[in-house]
Amino acid sequence: MINARECQPCTACCDGWLQTYVNGTHLYPGKGCQHSSGGKCGDYDNRPHDPCGAFTCGWLMDESPLPTWMQPSYSKVIVVFNRLRWRDGPVDLAVPVGKRIPQRALDWLLRHAEKSGRPLLYTEQPKESDGYSRQQTVYAYGPAEFCTRVAAMKASGQQLW
Ligand code: SF4
Ligand code: SF4
Repeated sequence: MINARECQPCTACCDGWLQTYVNGTHLYPGKGCQHSSGGKCGDYDNRPHDPCGAFTCGWLMDESPLPTWMQPSYSKVIVVFNRLRWRDGPVDLAVPVGKRIPQRALDWLLRHAEKSGRPLLYTEQPKESDGYSRQQTVYAYGPAEFCTRVAAMKASGQQLW
């Protein structure tokens, strides 16, 4: 199955939910790209190739297993497949558009992780008095050894990605 999906009106990755740098500017929750407006990129022809042109989230990619309703602007989750590797296999990542991934979307992702046998990392975006924290809380789902490894990395302060 090939998906012919388009981003609009989603701008979730432009709006800082996936922390990244665009033309040297750090985007993070609460600080989106200055060109993200009205559900689209206001400077599309001049957007940089990396990350803007090159990035494809898990919902947008060809042959995405994510259902239509999982478009990030509606489901409030950005999925990145194959974000990491564990024991030579893919690990997927899910990041909320907002404080936390809504339960319906999280349930779908957990079922998919079980069915596909792919470990999942998913995050929650803590709030502070002046907005969202730039530090995310990370949860692991998958084989016990995977979850133990992630817990050990978190405890030692290691960067997960
Ligand atoms: S999160 Fe996905 S669908 Fe939304 S703008 Fe980014 S690439 Fe497009
Ligand atoms: S330049 Fe356009 S595509 Fe790139 S982050 Fe900004 S709004 Fe999104």
